[in-house]
Amino acid sequence: MNVALRWSPENLRKAKKQLGVAAFRPGQAELIEAVMNGRDALGILPTGGGKSLCYQLPALFLPHAVVVVSPLIALMKDQQDKLEDRSIAVAKLDSTLSTQDERDMIDEIRQGTPELIYVTPERLEREETLAMLQRTGVSLIVVDEAHCVSQWGHDFRPAYLSIRDAVRRLGKPPVLALTATAPPDVARDIVRQLDIRTAVIIDAGNYRDNLIYEIRRTVNDLEKDRCLMELLAGQLRGGPGLVYAATIREAKALFERLRQRGLPVGLYHGKMRATDRHKTQQEFMDNRVPLVVATKAFGLGIDKRDLRVVVHYSLPDSLESYVQETGRAGRDGKTAWAVLLYRLEDRRVQAYFLGGKYPRREDCADVYRALAEEQRHGNKGLTLIKMAAATSLPVDKVKVVVALLDAMGILRRGRRLKLARAFVDEDEFGRYLEEYEQRHKSDQDKLEVMMKYGQTTECRVRYISRYFGNELPRDCGRCDNCRTDAGQRTVDVRELQAGV
Ligand SMILES: [Zn+2]
Repeated sequence: MNVALRWSPENLRKAKKQLGVAAFRPGQAELIEAVMNGRDALGILPTGGGKSLCYQLPALFLPHAVVVVSPLIALMKDQQDKLEDRSIAVAKLDSTLSTQDERDMIDEIRQGTPELIYVTPERLEREETLAMLQRTGVSLIVVDEAHCVSQWGHDFRPAYLSIRDAVRRLGKPPVLALTATAPPDVARDIVRQLDIRTAVIIDAGNYRDNLIYEIRRTVNDLEKDRCLMELLAGQLRGGPGLVYAATIREAKALFERLRQRGLPVGLYHGKMRATDRHKTQQEFMDNRVPLVVATKAFGLGIDKRDLRVVVHYSLPDSLESYVQETGRAGRDGKTAWAVLLYRLEDRRVQAYFLGGKYPRREDCADVYRALAEEQRHGNKGLTLIKMAAATSLPVDKVKVVVALLDAMGILRRGRRLKLARAFVDEDEFGRYLEEYEQRHKSDQDKLEVMMKYGQTTECRVRYISRYFGNELPRDCGRCDNCRTDAGQRTVDVRELQAGV
């Protein structure tokens, strides 16, 4: 049973000990104090900056459970194990549980046992989850990866938009929103979308002084490979490394090439079977495989403190993603590298990739109309083929539209397509789509910022910090640009010719 302790210096010391914490990192003490005083708060803490302590510690003192909304709790096993080792009761509700496990979990929650309840935003939307939490009481709601609530963030997730309703239904307990990366416009949007306008905002910056940011310019993939081999064989020999690829196809091809050269390498991407993904992850964590080629699917919930290098084989889609992914290196505080293999042509690949995500508005409206019609008649939904017939669109195009509407939470895919969200009229549907199109523009802007990062001759850390709203008092002194004399910093002539 979760019994509230008194918040005294002595109890705080005991709690820190129970959680294995010697000293607070920047921002932690302020955030903990805010939520313990019943305030809403937004914490922007660098990856590895100790976000989880900001709610794990209060959980030991608060009378009711702390609910943590997290996008991928299936991957949080590691954190759960650590807490349970320290005798802190944790429950999690996500789609990976067996029926029996889920029933047990719900029983425990009803008895008020867990101090922390991890839940996906989709699960929190459900009526039965809300009803259960209403009965047991909630002392604090934590929104992890809070940038997912913002359409201007780099990982928008529609279910995050219903968190504010859940907070209201649960009697408005304090909300603690946490993210590693939020430039000022995203931070403002988070506060607005979660309706925590008077929140205490703590920005601990994205600056970690053991990370060395570097760009390696390359002209083609052959040279990229050579550069990567050189990196892996040189200063980083022996240290665990992570190589991010932009697409699954690229990840697979690169993995094969590295394996053929005899490197002990693992592969990780979102389309692999869960057991294979888990195997790669486990071998990497245990140092049996020191190198992993991955897509951005890899990372959330993975805490490998001695990661020495994060290489991006292709340009990431935003500086937010880049900072988040590179921030996984060097969490042990020792020197680590963040290297981007930069090639002009990357932009076309990425721009193409982004362009493909947004089908025409009329096509979306046709698919929506067909489903709404189907629902009005009380039918079971449409197969892809029937949808193609109903809208006179080619099946391939229907697939693209369906994927988009699914991502937007408008329909559900399965054997048959069904409407998941109804709009009052087509105007409302149109406005919803329009917001998505604005995101398209926002995605292009983010890519632009990333491109400029590749080209800048100023301190890389200064560039990153400014984007996140912090002006550094001085250059980092360690990035590739800082190590090159100002007079010698040059822009590749091909970039000037290409006019980027
Ligand atoms: Zn620098």
